[in-house]
Amino acid sequence: MIYYICLLNTQVVFAIFRFRYEGGRAMSVIDFKAAQKWSKIPKKVQELLIDNVFCSDCGVTTIVEYTLGNDKLGVLLKGKCKKCGKDVARLVEDE
Ligand SMILES: [Zn+2]
Repeated sequence: MIYYICLLNTQVVFAIFRFRYEGGRAMSVIDFKAAQKWSKIPKKVQELLIDNVFCSDCGVTTIVEYTLGNDKLGVLLKGKCKKCGKDVARLVEDE
């Protein structure tokens, strides 16, 4: 029984660690509400949005190292331009 609990705990810790690790690559700050809204958007659409961010230097670009912020209008993606590294942002409005 004790062994079983230990095993379970290890799996939980591992799951949390994995979540942090995977989250850490894409998003450094996780706003729970924003993450919830973002997770409701289909993966294909998310990719389209990420690949379609406006940079004042490069025009349409891909956002990298972005964070998700909750906004009254939707989800605010804040990150860096993949091409030049400049700060870029995109608001994904709620439907
Ligand atoms: Zn750029």
